[in-house]
Amino acid sequence: MIDELLKKENFTQEDLSILLQSGKEDSNKIFTHAAKIKAEQVGKKVYYRGLIEMSNICSKNCYYCGIRKGNQEAKRYDIIDQDILDAAKYAYQSKYGSLVLQAGEISTPKFTKRISRLLKQIKELSNNELGITISLGEQPDEVYQEWFDAGAHRYLLRIESSNPDLYYKIHPRDKKHDFDNRLNCLKSLQRTGYQTGTGVMIGLPFQTYDDLAGDLLFMKNFDIDMCGMGPYIEHEDTPLYQYKHLLKPIDERFRLSLKMIALLRIVMKDINIAAATALQAIDPIGREKAIKVGANVIMPNITPGMYRDSYKLYENKPCTDENASDCTNCLEVRIGITGDEIGYGEWGDSVHFAKRINH
Ligand code: SAM
Ligand code: SF4
Repeated sequence: MIDELLKKENFTQEDLSILLQSGKEDSNKIFTHAAKIKAEQVGKKVYYRGLIEMSNICSKNCYYCGIRKGNQEAKRYDIIDQDILDAAKYAYQSKYGSLVLQAGEISTPKFTKRISRLLKQIKELSNNELGITISLGEQPDEVYQEWFDAGAHRYLLRIESSNPDLYYKIHPRDKKHDFDNRLNCLKSLQRTGYQTGTGVMIGLPFQTYDDLAGDLLFMKNFDIDMCGMGPYIEHEDTPLYQYKHLLKPIDERFRLSLKMIALLRIVMKDINIAAATALQAIDPIGREKAIKVGANVIMPNITPGMYRDSYKLYENKPCTDENASDCTNCLEVRIGITGDEIGYGEWGDSVHFAKRINH
């Protein structure tokens, strides 16, 4: 039955839900099929995006996140511009090709200007060669436009869950955490001209297989260019922690995440799919496993070491006590195991995006 299902051109929510629930043997068939599609459509290559977690100050209160505004336990930081630029220089010199600037959500004219300035400086220090992805939450159209004009060309904004009912179980039901606004922001990013990335958390309390199947179809219907999705990992100092007893065991959340990645590769053959850091928090070679089943982007953490421990979204975040070069060395060896090569110095833009805009 699984062989017949995998041959289909268009999957229904029910098909995907069945595939997500498959056992070990059938999952291996899904993984093999996804790996074949990846090799044919985007090649056996992995692209780096050096990740700079520039600040854990956030104005929002998502119920799952360790750096939410209401968490008094979180030690707040905001990396000074020079240290961000040094990390960007490190990415450039290490031939990473691209970097990601990520932070809590701040919407002030001062923050907008600071990001614009940093984007221009990063472009300058890298001879316009570093590609820049940003992940700075929901912002007005003009801000997205200003940052695009300043040099960012990809944006990551996870929808977290495409089912509004589930969305409001993991976010406060108020103006600041409005589902429709998040959706409109994604549309705005696409209109502005960004390579647009989204994603979801996998294994959330209250989440069903149908929800996850719906998430895959949401990404297809939205025609996204990139995806970063990974397992939900609980954090003690967050409201969602009270539902810990509803969670699937962590290794099951991990396997489900691999299945989501593989199925997304099958459903959206030519997009960029990132192997999320949260996978590594569960399994030391979790990201490499994701590369083998369809992912083609990895985000080595190049946040200066002294800040890393404070960007704690969830428990057991990996590599918080290492410096950037430790990570680079160990990563190269580990990606070698997957049989893929690293696209050093390449942007590795989404093939899907190129087709979408030339259409
Ligand atoms: N503030 C921006 C935003 O929310 O889009 C960007 C930074 S935010 C920390 C990046 C992502 O971290 C979120 O989209 C969310 O999916 C993920 N995240 C937060 N808490 C998490 C948790 N407990 N487990 C797994 N992922 C988590
Ligand atoms: Fe803030 Fe993003 Fe965490 Fe939500 S997920 S609390 S917006 S950092």
